[in-house]
Amino acid sequence: MATQTPGDSVLEGLDGMLDDVEALYKDVHSHPELSMQEARTAEIAADRLSAAGFDVTSGVGKTGVVGLLENGDGPTVMLRADMDALPVQEQTGLDYASTVDGVMHACGHDMHVAWLAGTAALMARNKESWHGTLMAVFQPAEETAEGAQAMIDDGLFDRFPKPEVILGQHVMPSPAGLIGSRAGVITSAADSLEIHMFGRGAHGSMPQASVDPVVMAAATVMRLQTVVAREVAPTESAVLTVGALQAGTKENVIPDEAVIKLNVRTFDEGVRKRVLDAIKRIVNAEAEASGAPKPPEFKTLDRYNLVTNDAGATARVGEALRAHFGADRVVTSGPVSASEDFGSFGTEWEVPSVFWTIGGTDPDLYAKAQQEGRLTELPTNHNPRFAPVLHPTLQTGVEALVTGACAWLSG
Ligand SMILES: [Zn+2]
Ligand SMILES: [Zn+2]
Repeated sequence: MATQTPGDSVLEGLDGMLDDVEALYKDVHSHPELSMQEARTAEIAADRLSAAGFDVTSGVGKTGVVGLLENGDGPTVMLRADMDALPVQEQTGLDYASTVDGVMHACGHDMHVAWLAGTAALMARNKESWHGTLMAVFQPAEETAEGAQAMIDDGLFDRFPKPEVILGQHVMPSPAGLIGSRAGVITSAADSLEIHMFGRGAHGSMPQASVDPVVMAAATVMRLQTVVAREVAPTESAVLTVGALQAGTKENVIPDEAVIKLNVRTFDEGVRKRVLDAIKRIVNAEAEASGAPKPPEFKTLDRYNLVTNDAGATARVGEALRAHFGADRVVTSGPVSASEDFGSFGTEWEVPSVFWTIGGTDPDLYAKAQQEGRLTELPTNHNPRFAPVLHPTLQTGVEALVTGACAWLSG
């Protein structure tokens, strides 16, 4: 059963504001912008913050927006939302679907924008219920792992007050309205590599004159599958996916080169290092085994650190969320094998941070899929059919963010 929490008086105006939050969500959803190109979304965020009385700085890390609302003595709390969409062709059939060909808010960052804008408006409207400084950060380019770092490199830590805590949340394909979090590692580290393996091209009928990069790459891909199976302990976990393998143009031409693109997810720095070392070792050894004319080249495509929730801050948020929503709506989740650059803010600023997930899947649909063992068929983030239900997802996100912030700002 839910009890009265400090954020509740701030949340009193939420019902009357929901139509507006929904309209904002649909607008952002139908106008998705790719990473580092979030000009329109950023302008909307900045306008909303200004209208609510925030002191707004735009263009932090290209398209990032920082809003400060000072409200007397007290701690500074930073709330973060990411704004970018993905190069995905939307297939939801929604009447507010993307109007941009090949671009879609398939990760739900549109929901994050709506949550934070709603939270900022409510906090501004109910300033008598809290004191301190609210710092709203709309971040670009989460999907390419560039945005948090771009804001940090653009002086985020020098130009704005250091917060006491940093809070963030992500919509996920769990039952709508359900909140999940945990102390410790909450999202995985991710490393994406592009690997070029070199051979020597020849006519398809004269393999003896070639060093065939197709065979070299094929052997490499198969051998890479042994890293997780044979080098990672059963109590540890890792994912190694080769998502792209490209070589050649024609059936009777042995090409010069093969390209492998792969993605690694890990939940522990030691495992991460071991897996990355194993990839290098195997790729180099397979090239050598084939007699490659030159060693493979490795390029890092992106790199996300682990997001680690501070134990003390997580307990404080968890207690407030359970008091507000009731314990049955706030669960301890396992770490998710998705990755986030949210962790960069807390890690590099040396501020405790807490990240949690909010379900966005129709609870009946979820229950039915679970019963029938078809949970894996529900559209996840990044799927062209990913479409969070509006209610109660929208209000849950605003309530959770207000409640989390007020765990520091009220009292
Ligand atoms: Zn994503
Ligand atoms: Zn995301």
